[in-house]
Amino acid sequence: MRVGVIYGNGIGPEITEATLKVLEATGLPFEWVPVMIGDEAYDRFGHPLPQDAVELLKELKYAIKGPFIVNKMKGRLSCVHKDGSEAIYPSLNNAIRRELNLFVCPRPIRGVPGISGAYEDFDVVVMREITEDVYAAIEHSIGNDAAECVKLTTRKAATRLAEFSFEYARAHGRKKVTCVHKANAISITDGLFLTCFREVAERYPDIESDDVMVDAAAYYLVKDPKRFDIINTSNQYGDILSDLCAGLVGSLGLAPGGNIGTEVAVFEASHGAAPDIAGKGIANPVALILSGAFMLRHMGFVREAQIVEESTRSVLSAGKDLTPDLGGSGTCMGLAGMIARKVKETL
Ligand code: ATP
Repeated sequence: MRVGVIYGNGIGPEITEATLKVLEATGLPFEWVPVMIGDEAYDRFGHPLPQDAVELLKELKYAIKGPFIVNKMKGRLSCVHKDGSEAIYPSLNNAIRRELNLFVCPRPIRGVPGISGAYEDFDVVVMREITEDVYAAIEHSIGNDAAECVKLTTRKAATRLAEFSFEYARAHGRKKVTCVHKANAISITDGLFLTCFREVAERYPDIESDDVMVDAAAYYLVKDPKRFDIINTSNQYGDILSDLCAGLVGSLGLAPGGNIGTEVAVFEASHGAAPDIAGKGIANPVALILSGAFMLRHMGFVREAQIVEESTRSVLSAGKDLTPDLGGSGTCMGLAGMIARKVKETL
C-alpha cells in the first residue's frame, strides 16, 4: 500500500495533510511516500520535476497530489530525459501528467444536499483529455506583435479518450456520453475529435451518445444539467467546464479528479493552489478528499471509497464546521477531522 504524496504549494500542503488523515481513517495500511517535486526539488536538484521523481512515481503507480501555483506567462518547463530527449510543457502540473503518460482526467462533480441549492441533484462527470489541444505547448511569438498556438488533435488521443468515456459509463452504470466540441467553427481539428467520438460510440450501442457545441454546453449546464451524464471533451474545454460545474455545486473545493494512464494514476482536485487563501488554514479539503476516495475505488477498495464519499457528503449536509467558501467559519483540518470521525464510526 505504498502511495506517492506530492504536497504541492499554496493550499496544497494543508489539503494534502487533511486528505491523508481521512484516508488513514479507513484503516487501510497506507505507507505514504513523499515525492519531492516543485520549489524544494528545484533548490536541491536544479529542476522542479527531477527524472528520479518521475521514476519513483512510475514505480509507486498511485499518488495523491496537491496543486502547484503556475506563474502567469512563466509556466513553461523543459524536461530532459535520461536518453537525452527533451520535452517542453506549458506548466509543472501539465509536465507531471505527461511525463507519466496520463491521458484522461475524469472529474466527477456532484451536488450536495444543503450546500448546492438548485444544483443539489447535479451529477456530471467531465472527462477531460490531458495530453494535447492548446495545452500541448506548441506556441511561439511572431515578432513583438503577434503570437500563435497550435491546437493539436490526434486520432489516437481522441479515440483513446472516447473509449475511456464509454468504458467508464459501463463500469459506473452511467447512461449517456456527450461529446463537447466546437466543430462548426474549428471544423478540421474539433471535426476530427468529433469523428473519432462517433466511431467509438458505434461500438457501444448500449450507451446513449450525442454531441453539443461547447458554448451551448456551458448554457445547458446552467439551465438544464440533467441532459448531461458524462461529458467527453478536449483539454481546454474540459478545464473550463469543470470549473463551471464546481461553481454550480457551490465551490471549487467540491470538485475532485484523477489523472489516469495505462500504468500510473495521480489523483488531484480540479482547483489550483489558491494562493489568496494559502497558509490561513481555511482551504476546503473536500475536493482532494473525494479525489482520495476516487483513488481507493481505482485501487479496488470500493467499500472504503463509498464510505469516504458518503461520510463527506453527510458531514457537508449537516452544515457544521464548513469552510468559508461554503459559507461557514470552519478550518481545513477541522472539516477533515469531522469527516475522518464519520468514516471511523461508519466502519
Ligand atoms: P489554476 O489555473 O491552477 O486552476 P487558478 O489561480 O485559476 O489556478 P484556483 O487556485 O483554483 O484558480 O483558485 C480560484 C479561486 O477559487 C480562488 O479565489 C481560490 O481561493 C478559490 N479556491 C480554489 N480552491 C479552493 C479550495 N479548496 N477551498 C477554498 N477556495 C478555493
